[in-house]
Parts: sequence; C-alpha cells; structure tokens
Amino acid sequence: MRSDMYLSLPASSRTWRTGSRPLLAWSLAAVLVSAVGCEKDAAREASDSDANGYLCAKCGAKFYAARSVFLGPRCPKCQQEALVEVVGYFCAKDQHLTLKGRSDERSGAATCEKCGAPLGGMRLPREKDLRAWGAVPAPK
Ligand SMILES: [Zn+2]
Ligand SMILES: [Zn+2]
Repeated sequence: MRSDMYLSLPASSRTWRTGSRPLLAWSLAAVLVSAVGCEKDAAREASDSDANGYLCAKCGAKFYAARSVFLGPRCPKCQQEALVEVVGYFCAKDQHLTLKGRSDERSGAATCEKCGAPLGGMRLPREKDLRAWGAVPAPK
C-alpha cells in the first residue's frame, strides 16, 4: 500500500511536467509573440517615414526632404521663418490621408478633407503621400 502511493506520485508529476507545463509555456509564448508583432507593426506604420514634410504658414509652399534632412524654420521660397513640419491623419473610412502643418495640431481635432469625419491617430506621411499632396523636393 505504502509503496503504491510512493510510486504514483512521481508518475503524476512526470505527466504534469511533460504535459501541461510546456504546452502552457508554448501558448503563452505564442500570445506574446503575436502581441509584440502587432504592436511593432502599428508603431512602425505610425512613426516610420522615409521623408519629412514641411508647410510654409506664410506662403503655403509645400516641401519634402529625405528623412535625415531637417529644414530650418526659414522657407526656401519666401525666406520667412514660417516653415512647420507636416503630419498626417488617416481616415479609415475612405483610406485618405489628410496632411496638416504640425502647428494646427492644437487648434482642435483634425477632420478628413475628403469626408469631413473627425480623425484621431496622427501618422507621419511618407514621400508618396507628400508628393500626392503637392509637395516638391526641398532645394538644397
Ligand atoms: Zn514661404
Ligand atoms: Zn474620410
């Protein structure tokens, strides 16, 4: 009787080790990996861009430059210190990216220039977005 109980204990603990524990760890890892992967993609989409966009608050000129090139506040066109960075707001309804000068950010919620819906998440525009918006390469 005594030896029977003694024998059954290691057997059940072995089942626990090789059975549920690795399975749990595996599914936990899978959940973690997919969560991290998702977050990374969303963050990359929002903050990664290949270009900087600029808008002149004075003359309305639109420029873009390589991601590593930062233009000063002086507008290459009218020479006034009114150049602001451009940010984008994405409308999920019509897939339209509305671009605005960063200084407009505080003056209320952005609205989609296509359908007028209020837009939330800020997204950095890419070179193709800036070009479609009418920006020209900044003069060197
Ligand atoms: Zn200007
Ligand atoms: Zn829209």
